[in-house]
Amino acid sequence: MIATYLKAPFQFEQRNVPIPEIGPDDVLFKVKACGFCGHDMILAKYAAKDWEPFGHEMSGVVEKVGANVRHLAVGDKVVLETSTFNPLSASSRNGRVDLDKDIINYMVPRTSMGFAEYTVAPASLCVKFDNMSFIEGSMIEPLGVAVDMFKVAEVGLNDDVLVVGIGPIGLMAIQLVKAAGARKIYAAGLSKSPKRAELAKKFGADEVIYTDVVDLKTYPFERGGVDKVLLTAPPALIEPCTHTLNMGGILSFIGIAYGEGAMASFDSNLVHHRKIQIRASDAVPALYFPMCIDLVESGKVDLKSLVSHTFQLKDAVESLKAYINDPANAVKAIMTNE
Ligand SMILES: [Zn+2]
Repeated sequence: MIATYLKAPFQFEQRNVPIPEIGPDDVLFKVKACGFCGHDMILAKYAAKDWEPFGHEMSGVVEKVGANVRHLAVGDKVVLETSTFNPLSASSRNGRVDLDKDIINYMVPRTSMGFAEYTVAPASLCVKFDNMSFIEGSMIEPLGVAVDMFKVAEVGLNDDVLVVGIGPIGLMAIQLVKAAGARKIYAAGLSKSPKRAELAKKFGADEVIYTDVVDLKTYPFERGGVDKVLLTAPPALIEPCTHTLNMGGILSFIGIAYGEGAMASFDSNLVHHRKIQIRASDAVPALYFPMCIDLVESGKVDLKSLVSHTFQLKDAVESLKAYINDPANAVKAIMTNE
């Protein structure tokens, strides 16, 4: 079978490798669609020191099941959670599955991942679906990330909300914020990505702020600032975002960077006196997949409009390079395997 690998900076290659064997608790997952995400981009840009397989946002069909697997059958259409909680762990038994560290994890070294014809996955990570396309299915994992960030922020009726970062996750979050009854939605992104700004407006953003042109800290928000910030952008943005929050504001944060970029600082007096809460969202273990599938199947969340680039697995090397070099139009790139 074909499997794709990457190495920093921005090198991709495909190899012919054997179809992997499965263990008793696994499935052989025939990949039908797989998204290229921000995490893969960080690997490709600088984090992958050696060749490694990639791709974890996937939908597909169960090709084989291990001897112990009861809840899945060959032919089932499934999406993959990147990890799930262990029901036997102390935190799960104490009612906090979200805090479990003893997770069952897809994100461990393996010979092939989503950018391949097949991958092996623990069966407990597969969630069945019926009424959406495989391309939509491949975006359930990032939608779960957006739902987690949204829930952590406790967005409520009549809140003014700022969503910082209008990549796929931010654009999904705008739709959730709109559905939750926010009063006014501000979206902040970079001016080099007009396509993303257009989508932000389509999904309900009232105003788009280009952070490379306008200073967020002095932006004339209608109520002086906002009640909630959903931040899906590098940690350096935490500081300017604290200035945009009104009294009692909550900032929900999922930006990732490594090395120097991981450090963040802010004015603690401002945070203290405005009683601001900075909260981390981290969708590990993955949660909310059934809800995400419902949101898409019922039409509450539009994932199709996010897809800017699609290509076949065999063309992945060239197509990923083309996607990376097209920031004006790039939103979401999805590989399909039909
Ligand atoms: Zn991802």
